[in-house]
Amino acid sequence: MNSEELFKISKNIIPGGVNSPVRAFEPYPFFVKEAKGSHILDIDGNDYVDHCLAYGPILLGHSDEDVMNDVYNQMQIGTAYGAPSENELKLAQEVIDRVPCAEMVRFVNSGTEATMAAIRLARGFTGKNKIVKFEGAYHGAHDYVLVKSGSGAACLPDSAGIPESTTQNTLSVPFNDVEALTQLIKEEGENIACIIVEPVMGNIGCVEPTVKYLKFLREITEENGIVLIFDEVITGFRLSHGGAQEYYGIKPDLVTFAKVLGGGFPIGAYAGRKEIMELIAPNGPVYQAGTFSGNPISIQAGLSTLKKLDYPFYGELSRKGDLLRNNISDIVEDLKLDLQVVGLSSMFQIYFNPDTVLNYEIAKRSDVKRFLVYFRDLLKNGVFIPPSQFECNFISGAHSEEDLIKTSEAIENALKLAWD
Ligand code: PLP
Repeated sequence: MNSEELFKISKNIIPGGVNSPVRAFEPYPFFVKEAKGSHILDIDGNDYVDHCLAYGPILLGHSDEDVMNDVYNQMQIGTAYGAPSENELKLAQEVIDRVPCAEMVRFVNSGTEATMAAIRLARGFTGKNKIVKFEGAYHGAHDYVLVKSGSGAACLPDSAGIPESTTQNTLSVPFNDVEALTQLIKEEGENIACIIVEPVMGNIGCVEPTVKYLKFLREITEENGIVLIFDEVITGFRLSHGGAQEYYGIKPDLVTFAKVLGGGFPIGAYAGRKEIMELIAPNGPVYQAGTFSGNPISIQAGLSTLKKLDYPFYGELSRKGDLLRNNISDIVEDLKLDLQVVGLSSMFQIYFNPDTVLNYEIAKRSDVKRFLVYFRDLLKNGVFIPPSQFECNFISGAHSEEDLIKTSEAIENALKLAWD
């Protein structure tokens, strides 16, 4: 059977034919046969340079041999214990050694779990209920944070099935807007437990903080007794050795991780100041638990992955990222298109938008119709990116210069077609 036939069947037995909504695209998504290094192959015989990379977890490339060997060895001695094992300490120590704010670490199974637990912890620590997120930020699929917009006032849920009473304590403000947050804190500061922020917004494309915005967040939270949570589910161990907080030199109180930390296997973690982390059960009153938390396969994959992610690795990754972004910028200039080529380190995106994108409001003005023409043409020419203007594209350590040239050529072709 081919992808088209499988998708037809899938739609009858799996809602929307996929197990996570963004994977569905018109007319049908390709079904994967295998993935190795920087490439992903479908069952229809197509080979793509992969810039989706499973939406972020794959940083060494698919199925890295060293990681797979270690995971295989671990599989021979157990896949879930329900009791502690030494590797959990080793991975926790590795996180603590790398990440400036991490004094203690708790492992969970996904980014969603990590942000849910970190928000509960911030509420438990401060005794306050309200939380602040940024418009367009994604922190997973749990009820508190499925709120995209709304200005200052209590926000409405973004999904059916979430009571308004659940999100009435979730406030949103535009990213990179000092005034909006200052005003909100003036009005609500004493009720706010935490501000949760993606230091680089990776779920509306790729939006960097303006100079000093993260410093402003750090100062205003400190002044008002608000817990600052960096959601580094995308940026953690991708942007640099110690994540966005090392890259930008700002230390939050708590941080959440997932994706790269599991080396291609499911994992999540939250970490931060000891004084706060000590409140988690069984030490303290903030409950959080999980059957598979700290499971030995993901922990081993994380350990083996981080072992390979040293400073020279990140230097080389940034060099490749710069190479690709420069190529794309040259193409955009040659074609005289008014677009924004954005990104840093191994993250990139092209906004089909004439304006500098600083927040969700501006990102939403992008030409998504043209973007879809561009996406389909890239796919046709052997380059896979997420099928949305509002996702980030990635590169891995396994991407060769040849891959990046192929991607650049395909992008040139696709941009020409989108503006035909
Ligand atoms: N936080 C951010 C910044 C994310 O990008 C995501 C997922 O894309 C999540 C949290 C949720 O992570 P997961 O899909 O592992 O639950």
